[in-house]
Amino acid sequence: MRLISILLLTILIISCGAPKETVRIVELPEVNVEFEQSAPEYKASIPRKHDLIHSKVAVSFDWEKQELKGLADLQLRPYFHSTNQLYLNAKGMDIHKVQLLSNNMRNDLPYNYSNDTIWIILDKKYSRVDTFEVSIKYTAKPEDLVSRNPQAFSSAKGLFFINPNGLDKNKPRQIWTQGETQSSSCWFPTIDAPNERMTQEIIITIEDNFKTLSNGKMISSIKNNDGTRTDHWKQSLPAAPYLTMMAIGEYEITFDKWRDLDVNYYMEPDYGHMGKRIYGNTPEMMEYFSKLLGVDYPWEKYSQVVVRDYVSGAMENTSAVIYGEFMNQDERELLDYDNEDVISHELFHHWFGDLVTCESWANLPLNESFATYGEYLWNEKKYGKLKADHYGHNDLQAYIRESKVKKEPLIRYYHDHQDHMFDAHSYQKGGRVLHMLRNYMGDDAFFNSLRVYLEDNKYESVEIHNLRLACEKVSGEDLNWFFNQWFLNSGHPFIDISYSYDDSLKIQTVTIEQLQDIEEHSLFMLPIAIDVYESDVPTRYNVTVRKQIQDFQFKVKSKPNLVNVDADKMLLCEKIDHKTSEEYIYQYYNAGNYLDRREAIANIGRDYEIDGSDGRMIKRALSDPYWHLRLLAIRNLDEYIKEDPQEMKEILSYMATRDSKSLVRAEALEMLAKHYKNDMSIEHIFKNATVDSSYTVLEQGLLHFTYLNNEAGLRTANKYAAEENPKYIPILSKVYSYYGDDSHHLFFDYAFRNASGNEKYSLLRDYGLYLTRCNVETIENGLAQLKMDAIANHQWYVRLAAVEALAEIKEHAVHEKKKLESEIKSSATSSIMKKDAEIKVDRFTKLELAIDEALKSIMKNERHSKLVEMYNKG
Ligand SMILES: [Zn+2]
Repeated sequence: MRLISILLLTILIISCGAPKETVRIVELPEVNVEFEQSAPEYKASIPRKHDLIHSKVAVSFDWEKQELKGLADLQLRPYFHSTNQLYLNAKGMDIHKVQLLSNNMRNDLPYNYSNDTIWIILDKKYSRVDTFEVSIKYTAKPEDLVSRNPQAFSSAKGLFFINPNGLDKNKPRQIWTQGETQSSSCWFPTIDAPNERMTQEIIITIEDNFKTLSNGKMISSIKNNDGTRTDHWKQSLPAAPYLTMMAIGEYEITFDKWRDLDVNYYMEPDYGHMGKRIYGNTPEMMEYFSKLLGVDYPWEKYSQVVVRDYVSGAMENTSAVIYGEFMNQDERELLDYDNEDVISHELFHHWFGDLVTCESWANLPLNESFATYGEYLWNEKKYGKLKADHYGHNDLQAYIRESKVKKEPLIRYYHDHQDHMFDAHSYQKGGRVLHMLRNYMGDDAFFNSLRVYLEDNKYESVEIHNLRLACEKVSGEDLNWFFNQWFLNSGHPFIDISYSYDDSLKIQTVTIEQLQDIEEHSLFMLPIAIDVYESDVPTRYNVTVRKQIQDFQFKVKSKPNLVNVDADKMLLCEKIDHKTSEEYIYQYYNAGNYLDRREAIANIGRDYEIDGSDGRMIKRALSDPYWHLRLLAIRNLDEYIKEDPQEMKEILSYMATRDSKSLVRAEALEMLAKHYKNDMSIEHIFKNATVDSSYTVLEQGLLHFTYLNNEAGLRTANKYAAEENPKYIPILSKVYSYYGDDSHHLFFDYAFRNASGNEKYSLLRDYGLYLTRCNVETIENGLAQLKMDAIANHQWYVRLAAVEALAEIKEHAVHEKKKLESEIKSSATSSIMKKDAEIKVDRFTKLELAIDEALKSIMKNERHSKLVEMYNKG
């Protein structure tokens, strides 16, 4: 699964995963939830009493009631001990009948259904060599689960009806499922455990205008007499029940191939032409991963589908991946960023997660760390090491941010709730740990170990030791120390690196000290490379840090130009590095990794002489071959601009118009807007940017162009608003929030109807700001929208944004009232004006009261634990 990050929500995603700097990022408030301090219980794997061999599930739907009518025929056998009883997970269902199928006979079986479990008494005791088949007729009622416990089930109800009555003209009607972690049992009775595995048939009857998608192959599609059609999907390779899926909607399908296998992309009609543009690298990825791992993509086809109002980022359902609507990108968005990381993540899961599955959620990193590392591997292969390391560094930072709040072992048998396993530890930290393991073992041993791990455990569930044993089997080396410190213990090294050179002895010393709390997280053993540069030639030394303070000495001929510790820049750590500016400058020009150059730019920072070697380095970094380093260099230009504003104006103007990467052009525009705020000589640069193909550049251009030339800027904005392209919504809502007036309310009406779920967060924030620019009538009209989202939006952070907007307007009302009241008191105000002001005071008072009342009831009715805690704190 790929999650939407809670702390940083990308407009597209997310999270499932790593928020990337290349995407537009919406800052969300940091919410730390403290859990009660009772010790969590050991979370064992779910005991195996029966083995579910095959599930044949026939379903049809009642859109109006949002219910599924199902018939599930399940083939099972006792796992080890003989028994005449069977327990199945079935959440929020009506169970109509349970029967035993035997010799074409159906015999009713006694059963009891309570606590989301069907307890069935079989006709006799079965042993582990017997198989038997039960048939269950049921109705799945996901909305009942939600009304029973909205906190637990609003995003875990398993089965989702989108726009079920077709009342929303801006949203397609869809049905889709989400099984992970244990929600497949919300739509069919099963053994809902990651250590279970079954083959399956899903038989879907639906109105003929819809397309269906499920796991495996469609083996028949038959039109019925009543306008419906029955599609029969069959997956003949066993997979865990949480990977079972359905998606139903009006899609256009783009057909593709990998070797002889069907690969296809289910597109919403508006994006039908974008299938190959968005997903087109999938076959090349499948080929690359198959070769790299030495295990061919094992499943029967590969489909990818976008659904509306998705509850996660994406999900690796076997051979049928679901994505949220952030994947619906047009050509112009692709200029700024793509979501190929999510594509590689989900595909890599088809080996790690689907073919070999974590046996319990405590072992989730065996799914998610690998999928996250799959992103790195694809970037490295397709786009080069600089990009891979750039994104890898974003992963590291995501984990480091999370480590300020919690430090847990990657493999966690004592987690509070399985949902808490889906964090920056299991994803980003785990991905970085695998990168270190690869660096330590070497590519040959590492990828051979993965092949052995996959081959030895295919179609099985695994725990972390299976991975270690595979690595040991291949390399012949005991790796307990690595797995213990990185997978089974918590924390990470915090190292201090200092240098001294003895000219008389010609000895260079490097001292590495581990500063982390070693009582809590113990010392780390760190095999690293140190490159010593003498006369511009690097010599590599492979050393191992074992002690709390350790010296490494190197015999040299003269003082080295640079001593580069962790020369591969692969170490998962925080560090203080006592390099001099000269050494960082040398590092920028001579050590080639992304992080070598990034660290140099960051450490030179904003404090330099523009004529010195440090200032020259920053200027040189403006033309770094890698775009993100150019972007970082722009962020460090303040000093340069202060000293030589004319030269930098020219350079930035050039970059703002000519840089090949749109995000760099946008950064240059932002810097120009900041430092040359009222300089009309560059107005044309902003004006030209308002017609740039890149949305990010257009946004920067339009914002500052409107600042310089209010009337012309708003004219351009209004022209775009008239085009009713939903991709303009985030741009225009920002422009109007700064410069708009009452006349732009129509745009916000349109925006609220058309913004995607995730976009609403920033839209609401902009709207709150915009309303404070409007007269009181417009504000009164806007309250309804804010109240509706604050109460009823299904995403908690959107509800929060609406509450914040309400609070902002209240503050505005209080402020306006004070201003008016002092006007009324003033002797300079005419009596007519006083009368008018009094009427306004009255309206603002009413507005304030209305907001107060609304906030009170919103907060009282909120059920989300994070928000409840925030509101209680005030
Ligand atoms: Zn994942």
